[in-house]
Amino acid sequence: MALEDYEFEAKYCSRCSQCKWIPLNKIRGWRFAQSCPAISRYNLHAYSGGGRVITANSLLQRRSEITDELREIIFRCQLCGACQVTCHLIGEIVEPLEIARELKIRAVEEGKIPLEIQFMVDGLKREDNVFGEPKAKRGDWAKGLDLKDINEERVDVIFHAGCRFSYDGELRGVIRDAATLLKDAGVNLGIAGREEGCCGGRVFDAGYRGEMEKYADDMIRRIKASGASKLVTPCSDCYGTFKYLYPMIGHKLDVEVLHITELIDRLMSQGKIRPVKEVRMRVTYHDPCHLGRLGETYEPWNGEWKKVLGQVTISEPQKQIRRGAGGVYDPPRRILKSIPGLELVEMDRRREWSWCCGAGGGVKEAYEDFALWTAKERIEEARSTGADAIVTACPWCERNFKDVIEKEGMDFMVYDVVELLMQSLEG
Ligand code: SF4
Ligand code: SF4
Repeated sequence: MALEDYEFEAKYCSRCSQCKWIPLNKIRGWRFAQSCPAISRYNLHAYSGGGRVITANSLLQRRSEITDELREIIFRCQLCGACQVTCHLIGEIVEPLEIARELKIRAVEEGKIPLEIQFMVDGLKREDNVFGEPKAKRGDWAKGLDLKDINEERVDVIFHAGCRFSYDGELRGVIRDAATLLKDAGVNLGIAGREEGCCGGRVFDAGYRGEMEKYADDMIRRIKASGASKLVTPCSDCYGTFKYLYPMIGHKLDVEVLHITELIDRLMSQGKIRPVKEVRMRVTYHDPCHLGRLGETYEPWNGEWKKVLGQVTISEPQKQIRRGAGGVYDPPRRILKSIPGLELVEMDRRREWSWCCGAGGGVKEAYEDFALWTAKERIEEARSTGADAIVTACPWCERNFKDVIEKEGMDFMVYDVVELLMQSLEG
């Protein structure tokens, strides 16, 4: 796709601003009614989903160009998808998320790129990870676990750790536990170790299309060689990339893609994992964008828009618009509810209406202040439920929450679902 492919959609924004708000029947009050971090933080229409659609329309009509000021607006967007979900309550045509993505891609093509994003991409090109850390250390997290190497042995399930879990020393324990848990439950799994590459999703969300295509090709080749039938990942960013972004650019993986919470949920229903010990805690669950509303399966559409009776515009055949309801919401909640003694309380903004953690779309790399502001808003919402901790299922969310809690000196805990489950297992 290209920005020009959205020319028709870009004209259909009615400037209604629905994309800034959670539907009022989903929430209890105004305090947590906003849906878009960018418009909430910067309070100027251009930052909203609708503002981005209007910007795209203006560029396509050649009425404006990408200036330095506009570049800043374009990249201060997590591509969290909340605008896409809320817009589709009232319309079927406008796709603010995809248009916001195309704006970033256009800015990159024109060389209007924040320096920090360039550093991230340079590091990726050099070392195959978004931190620019040595590629040779990618598999270090698995030292001593005796996991199979998919480059040497055939396995049923590929365990894809992702960049953040592989290189973030504070979070590594989660994937060591997760891989051991699956192995002990009888899953024939293996890892690519130092040969594992980035999924490419984070640079794609920062406007670099070509890099993700390269990593998608690499992943397809690796999967074919491994003979595996499933790929499981503990990272929601990677999950959303495999499930939606790869098919969107025509690179579908030829295996079943699962998030770790889906596979654990399946194993629990088969009695292969049993939480038994009490974990006395009240927690609230944060839906990661790329596991929830952005974790839906991609549905290709090659139809056309038609005007009916000179008034209503319809798609033919009917276009499956991304609404977010088909994301992964129940498996992590079922795991948490199965832990004895654990009480799960919900925030207002949940499931497809979830507030972003703030770390996506290159924002954590380029605009740390905005990323932390967004995370702080979520922690305040989590605390308002009376919970002792926020639980998530993505290392990027966990890292951003931990960073803001430390910076602000807040007294609040952050966990991955796997961490709490481990506390309730025997042994
Ligand atoms: S993007 Fe959608 S919800 Fe936002 S102003 Fe335009 S039509 Fe309204
Ligand atoms: S993708 Fe998220 S941050 Fe970007 S405009 Fe839409 S709601 Fe706002």
